[in-house]
Order: sequence, then C-alpha cells, then structure tokens
Amino acid sequence: MLQPPHQSLQAAATIPVQRTPERDDDAGPWHADAVCRRDEAGLFFAPSKEPTAARLSREQAAKRVCARCPVLVECREHALLMPEPYGVWGGLTAAERRVVLSRRRRATASAAPPPAEVTRIA
Ligand code: SF4
Repeated sequence: MLQPPHQSLQAAATIPVQRTPERDDDAGPWHADAVCRRDEAGLFFAPSKEPTAARLSREQAAKRVCARCPVLVECREHALLMPEPYGVWGGLTAAERRVVLSRRRRATASAAPPPAEVTRIA
C-alpha cells in the first residue's frame, strides 16, 4: 500500500522518518523523490483548530515546496485518485482537489454518449 510522502503531525510523531530501502520499496516509484518526505515544519496537514490566516499561510508555504518537487504530477494524481481527503498534495489543497474532481466528473459526463432511450427519441 502506498504511504503518503508526508505525514500528518500525529503520524510524524510516531513513525520514524529516516529514509530506508525497505520504505522506498513499499512506497512506489515516485514516493522516494518526494521533497516533503521529512516535513519537519508540519506544512502539509493542519493542526487542530488552526486559524484561517495561519492555514492560508501554511498552505502557501506547502505549495512552494510542491512547486519544486520533481514528482508533483504523480503525487497530485495519486491524491485525486485515492482520493486523499486532507492536506496539501501535489500543490493542491483538499478543497482545490474537490474542485478538480468535480470538473473532471462534469467533463466526463458531457463527453459521454447520450443514454440509449434519448438516442431513440431524438
Ligand atoms: S508534490 Fe508536494 S505533497 Fe507531493 S510529494 Fe512533492 S512536495 Fe510532497
């Protein structure tokens, strides 16, 4: 099972963050190159009761990390496909990922052929 490249603050506190060959094997091909593997600053997941201004600032900082990450596309697609409900992944917040998924669903629905009954009537 693929593990997130960055850990929530709670997970980071309980899981060793040293990079090991065993963890890399389990993680998948893109995970090993994630810039955020050691999220010491806790940028990617919100602490509880985070004020809005602090959240926006933290998310912007996380996005700046993502912008220089060589596996941004892979990470983003992973987060969209799972879907990951929390945190910044692939330069997108959870709310932004919901917008992307909604747009993809609408695009897929409009590209689909009409149902058979509609075709017969028309
Ligand atoms: S794109 Fe961002 S969240 Fe994804 S692996 Fe890279 S730094 Fe981490």
